Amino acid sequence: MGVEDPGGYLYNKQANKLRLKTVVEAAIEEGIYVIIDWHSHHAEDHLEEAKLFFQEMAQTYGESENVIYEIYNEPLNVSWSEIVKPYAIQVIKAIRAIDPDNLIIVGSPEWSQRVDLVAEDPITTFPNIAYSLHFYTIYHQDWLRERATAAINNGIPIFVTEWGSVGYSMIDSEANKWMNWCNTNKISHVNWAVNDKDEEWSIVIPGASITGQWQESDLTEAGKLAKNIISNWPD
Ligand code: MG
Repeated sequence: MGVEDPGGYLYNKQANKLRLKTVVEAAIEEGIYVIIDWHSHHAEDHLEEAKLFFQEMAQTYGESENVIYEIYNEPLNVSWSEIVKPYAIQVIKAIRAIDPDNLIIVGSPEWSQRVDLVAEDPITTFPNIAYSLHFYTIYHQDWLRERATAAINNGIPIFVTEWGSVGYSMIDSEANKWMNWCNTNKISHVNWAVNDKDEEWSIVIPGASITGQWQESDLTEAGKLAKNIISNWPD
């Protein structure tokens, strides 16, 4: 759920919460996991809003094992120890007062790529916390895998809550390297995005049906790649 950009949560809380609940409840009904993502680049500027929102989510969904909280999607170039971590501790405290156990995922500076900073100063006072790692295959390659591998070796649990490709037209080998890395390290990962927005990461073309039942011709290059990965994931 978008937060501070026009149309986001802060502009129309009730309507956006209703949309979110529709998705969360459909996922629970289907028996799949669902991430409630505070999709913000400036979450520290809206701490009280985040606490109130996640308290309500914990009240409503804290007993459902399907639900994962992602409390800060992508911090920008701000301090982990001075800005992001203190924000995260406040929001985690609010959630844990209600829901003792569902997974909480925390972002890190520079669009959730600085898991090395997290590894130097992790959150140690709450159970079941993971950290997001985001990558896009045209920008993020060996150097980010090496950084993330080092963080894992330092004991940091990672969840790739967002990754995107441009499909087979350009760097299919880079997507394969990342998928091998996720598989080898048992890292859960979520492809961005089930969307018909006109951008290369979207998995369906603009105007594709909002109720699914897509044909091959509805898929973008990124969508074909994602489908192939899902269809052929090792057991
Ligand atoms: Mg729970």
